[in-house]
Amino acid sequence: MRETDALANARREMEICNACRYCEGFCAVFPAMELRREFSAGDLSYLANLCHNCRGCYYACQYAPPHEWGINVPRTFQELRAETYAEYAWPRRFAQLFDRNGTIVSLVTALGIALVLMLAAGLVDPDALYRAHPVVPGSFYAVIPLWAMQATGILTFGFSLIALAMGARNFWRDAGPRERPGPVALGIALWDVLTLKNLGGGGHGCNDASERFSMRRRWLHHAMFYGFFLCFAATCTAFVYGTLFGWEAPYALTSVPVLLGTVGGLLLLVGTVGLFAMKLVDDPMPAARNLLGADVALLMLLALAALTGLVLLALRGTGAMGIALAVHLGVILSLFVALPYSKMVHGVYRTAALLRRATERNMKPLGGE
Ligand code: SF4
Ligand code: SF4
Repeated sequence: MRETDALANARREMEICNACRYCEGFCAVFPAMELRREFSAGDLSYLANLCHNCRGCYYACQYAPPHEWGINVPRTFQELRAETYAEYAWPRRFAQLFDRNGTIVSLVTALGIALVLMLAAGLVDPDALYRAHPVVPGSFYAVIPLWAMQATGILTFGFSLIALAMGARNFWRDAGPRERPGPVALGIALWDVLTLKNLGGGGHGCNDASERFSMRRRWLHHAMFYGFFLCFAATCTAFVYGTLFGWEAPYALTSVPVLLGTVGGLLLLVGTVGLFAMKLVDDPMPAARNLLGADVALLMLLALAALTGLVLLALRGTGAMGIALAVHLGVILSLFVALPYSKMVHGVYRTAALLRRATERNMKPLGGE
């Protein structure tokens, strides 16, 4: 990790916090901070990704603005996290995509939809896009051939997986634990990820919009997180059905892919729209406003993926099915392409940071100043 202004400011704040230690029961960051007196770039990268941005320490801090020290750990770590996303990105030349993320995501989405529409028009009868199709196995492939769906899906998602894995490796080398995590550490980290424990703040939830505690952000994040994975499970199941068993989409309303996709889509929609609404009313002081565009772009893309999937389900027996299918597939392809260069990478780095915290759980804190 390069030395930057954000890194220097994070180091200054951690040194003050390490002397103060008032917030040590708030989250995993402060106990992790107390294990060291000096903070390397890798340590700060780790601590920034361990922070879940609950904002509790900002409202508790006697040195927060307007105090001359201006301690604002949530904002400082948010800025540093954004730098780590670009720093560890793979391939490195794509790191600048993080800078203008909102614009890039919109462009990629528009291109993704246009590509699928062109595929549909070029590979089959263009009229199939506008004709009503009966809801029978194979009717989706009358609009876009199965091989085209599979090829674009495998290429884009495969690239995303490789880019995310390389990013995780870069993070791990710089900010990962010094010793190999054992099974207990893996179990603890997995539990922390699945329960989003750190979004509980000190036990009462986050300071979403103000000094008042609330569990809203944690529940909305849960809805988004599990909604995303149910949708992903629906896509994987449909892929296995089509590839291994030759069972062609669309599937019955009571089938596993449709049930997983419907519940997942609704959860994803509730989570993303709710989190977006919270951004409209939250206190701007503990937030890095220059990163708002990237946050909103990702939320909108996820919401669009859920919404277009539900619309396709509702319209699959009508003449609008062709366009609905092309738009949905275009959004999904865009999501796959944008994944490694969006805020979505925070899931990978935060998991790695929680794993490092779990490996350090038995270390004793060093004395404060
Ligand atoms: S955020 Fe403020 S109150 Fe909390 S440990 Fe740091 S300096 Fe102390
Ligand atoms: S914002 Fe919340 S999670 Fe982040 S350091 Fe402060 S108390 Fe910890």
